[in-house]
Amino acid sequence: MPIPIHDPHQAPGGSLKRLPLRKAAVLFTVAVCLCLFGLLYLQLEQSRRQDLAVAQMASANLTRAMAQQAEDTFLAADLVLTSLVDWVEDDGYGAAQKTRLQKTFARRVQQLEQLHGMFLFDNKGQWVITSYPDLPHGNGVADREYFKFHQQNVSTVAHIGPAIRSRENGEWIIPISKRINDRAGNFQGVLMAGIKMSYFDRFFESFSLDNNGIMFLGLTDGTLLARRPFDEGLVGSSLAQGRIYRKLLPDAPAGTAMINSVVDGVTRLYGYRQLAAYPLVVAAATSRDTILKGWYERAVQSSVIVALLILGVGLFGWVFIHQVRDGERIEKNLRKAQLTLEQIATHDSLTGLANRRLFERSLEIEFARGARQVSPVSLIMLDIDFFKRYNDAYGHVAGDHCLTQVAQVVKTCCQRKADLAVRYGGEEFAVLLPDTDINGALAIAGQIRRSVIDKHITHSGSPTGYLTVSLGCYSFIPNGNDSLEVFIQRADAALYQAKNAGRNRAAVLSLDGGIAELMRSDR
Ligand code: GH3
Ligand code: MG
Ligand code: MG
Repeated sequence: MPIPIHDPHQAPGGSLKRLPLRKAAVLFTVAVCLCLFGLLYLQLEQSRRQDLAVAQMASANLTRAMAQQAEDTFLAADLVLTSLVDWVEDDGYGAAQKTRLQKTFARRVQQLEQLHGMFLFDNKGQWVITSYPDLPHGNGVADREYFKFHQQNVSTVAHIGPAIRSRENGEWIIPISKRINDRAGNFQGVLMAGIKMSYFDRFFESFSLDNNGIMFLGLTDGTLLARRPFDEGLVGSSLAQGRIYRKLLPDAPAGTAMINSVVDGVTRLYGYRQLAAYPLVVAAATSRDTILKGWYERAVQSSVIVALLILGVGLFGWVFIHQVRDGERIEKNLRKAQLTLEQIATHDSLTGLANRRLFERSLEIEFARGARQVSPVSLIMLDIDFFKRYNDAYGHVAGDHCLTQVAQVVKTCCQRKADLAVRYGGEEFAVLLPDTDINGALAIAGQIRRSVIDKHITHSGSPTGYLTVSLGCYSFIPNGNDSLEVFIQRADAALYQAKNAGRNRAAVLSLDGGIAELMRSDR
């Protein structure tokens, strides 16, 4: 592993910032889960709408078929009634006509499957002729709704009345009737054709509908005429307050709507249609649950699959995130260990100053930089005076402590970031001062020397009585082809000269062998 060099000019933390992988993994996992969930929702919503649209179409078609059938049924009876009314109005229903009319009535009833019977009443509501061979007994039909209607309305248009029970045989019938006038337009009676309710029941039953399905035929005033499922109690009841009559039919004569029943709580899709030719309304309803049965099954299947997928993605994400976290922890520990190793490999354990290895690498860098920028590089070599004696007097442990104190002083005096304080050997220190000339070096050397004295470390073996240091300074402008050894030797030579001159001083190397400049302590 390459040991990092001391390069204070290099910007710290120059490497690209790491992507927050753990955050990205969490976001990715959540995003995938949300996407899966969103896709499921979209797909289910789309297929639900599709199923409902298909059901709406089927419902509209069904009501169209019902409306057509109802119209055909009533139209056929209406045509028969119209021709017979013309006959009766022209020829009357005297004894001469009675037999022919009765036979014609019976034949028409035979021909038209939907007809229960045909009945001619006089202006008092008494039976005159029926499709049956014998006249029924009783008080006639003056109380019936259709009779009163024609009695009071001059209209000759066919009238459809509420369902009634036949007084002939008790069968449920829907009466369609017409007024008979004399030549002067006075009310002369009513001709009525009874349409079997069972005819509609059979037609309704021919469609496949679920148990909750409903089909009905009603008058435009809301009176119920026929219904599947058949419920005798409901026949003749009013649907006028229902949503179809109250809200939907006033807006449009045909359509579909989802309606929640207040009776059984079932939500149904209703198709409804009002007939153009007769005052009739048909409607058919299928429960929403039946329409969406297939959709519910598909929704459960898809949801289970997506839930399993989300679970799988979530689990994978969880494992991945944990692995990333473990990786990050290991990487952090490794980085810490690497820094510790770097510190150990490049620093002195006793004083914490840079060691010779770091010193030499830094020298190479500063030489190159000095040569590039044509700026001076200075070096101070420091040696503690009479240190052997100090050890002898106070012991090695105290000697080590003393070294630490001197190191602290040296470090404190290196104020620039680029300055490097080094423990060069036993009790020798070096200070590398990039971009500093000899005067600057000498100033710092003097500062170190005075600071050591200011510590007042007692040294009985020194002539001064306290610990002092000697320093040698050397400075030059590198030219790119310089020897580290020579540079160190020159600073060392300056130190040697300071020692020779009496110690406790800083000296600059005199190239002729003498001391070029001397800074004495302020003794
Ligand atoms: P002067 O430099 O003034 O000429 O005299 P000196 O006694 O200091 O001589 P020299 O520089 O040669 O002494 C080196 C002594 O420093 C030898 C050794 O006892 C002591 N020394 C070197 N390294 C250590 C160390 O790590 N701890 C301690 N306690 N003493 C050391
Ligand atoms: Mg020494
Ligand atoms: Mg010494």
